Amino acid sequence: MSLIVQKFGGTSVGSIERIRNVAARAIAAQKAGHQVVVTVSAMSGETNRLVAMVEALTPSYNKREYDVVVSAGEQISIGLLAIAIDAMGAKARSYLGWQVRFLTDNIHSKARIQEIESDRIRKDLDEGYIVVVAGFQGVTDAGDVTTLGRGGSDTSAVALAAALKADLCDIYTDVDGVYTTDPRIEPKARKMDRISYDEMLEMASLGAKVLQTRSVELAKKYSVPVRVLSSLEEGTGTLLTVEDQTMEKVLVSAIAYNNNEAKITIIGVPDSPGVAASIFGTLAGANINVDMIIQNVSAGQLTDLTFTVPKADFKQTMDILKQSVKTIGARDVTGDTNIAKISAIGVGMRSHSGVAQKMFKALADERINIQMISTSEIKISVVIDEKYTELAVRTLHSAFELDKERGDSVGG
Ligand code: ADP
Ligand code: ASP
Ligand code: MG
Repeated sequence: MSLIVQKFGGTSVGSIERIRNVAARAIAAQKAGHQVVVTVSAMSGETNRLVAMVEALTPSYNKREYDVVVSAGEQISIGLLAIAIDAMGAKARSYLGWQVRFLTDNIHSKARIQEIESDRIRKDLDEGYIVVVAGFQGVTDAGDVTTLGRGGSDTSAVALAAALKADLCDIYTDVDGVYTTDPRIEPKARKMDRISYDEMLEMASLGAKVLQTRSVELAKKYSVPVRVLSSLEEGTGTLLTVEDQTMEKVLVSAIAYNNNEAKITIIGVPDSPGVAASIFGTLAGANINVDMIIQNVSAGQLTDLTFTVPKADFKQTMDILKQSVKTIGARDVTGDTNIAKISAIGVGMRSHSGVAQKMFKALADERINIQMISTSEIKISVVIDEKYTELAVRTLHSAFELDKERGDSVGG
């Protein structure tokens, strides 16, 4: 008998009718002979509503209490789903993160799963239950509720699949697979039948919110077979797999964008050893993830340091830096939240050159100015003015001919 983990996102559990649809899918999988664990997110819009209430109280809220509030949406959806399964004649049991025990670290609002105690789930499965587990949440050693960052129920599902050594982890969402870019921005985007873990990892970390980055890291680390597919229509979706030779033939396989970052510049930084270490050390100490970093020579013995941080951490970062600027003797700190990062991703870049040139030229032809650039083995990212996000995505998607029919690694 095989064990499958199914994950359903917000839209898929967004109404009573949709919850019945999820219940039917779980029951069908059980009837087909599988043991079934279902992880769900909150009903669509619910987590945003909870976050908005917290932010309405104060911009610098206590993160432990934020987790208490925003983890609440999943409690409703697991209970409703278990009731729906039960009403349709199968056995179901729902669990919150602390009950199954998704043990996490204590970095509230972006906790990382350390261990999952799965004994209770296994016992239920052996007794014929469909087990319904709340996504997005965990508990610290001390018993405090944590959340895993927005989109975190993907990670709950993959972590659970790894812990239970599941045969498959199906991520059901509101699109029928992973596309060459966000199909909501570029209708000509094409669904991929397969994608390598590495490309998916870059896509997720560069903004493709179809999977949370951490879920792909875990899938790769524990070789969890993950499929992304639609909860609303039948189809084979997209399978995450190890890279093969056909994939390398494709120069660029996807375009991603992220407009959830902000750009910060520290002006007139003393050009001496240890200054960058001190600035970024302070930010790391506050659990702020700094992304692209560039350093420019400015007048005299001074430099400018520009980097990006998540928009959610922008205010806290500015507050911290206003203090650090004084201690390190820099001139000023400025911020810009109206930026977007656009990235071209492809394992084929390892063995081909010319991608950067093509990318910069395509953007220049549309008169889109590039503010920052960063590259790695399989991606190139640029920061631009946020108002050109959609134009840049479509321009690059067509410049790299992603709308065209391909060999067997991409298709659909
Ligand atoms: P869920 O609530 O099911 O977790 P999400 O909204 O988190 O769903 O993720 C699905 C969304 O991801 C899609 O509706 C789509 O707009 C977006 N998306 C961004 N990039 C891509 C991509 N390359 N392929 C597919 N979907 C993408
Ligand atoms: N409900 C959470 C969120 O909206 C988790 C998730 O959707 O995966 O971020
Ligand atoms: Mg999601």
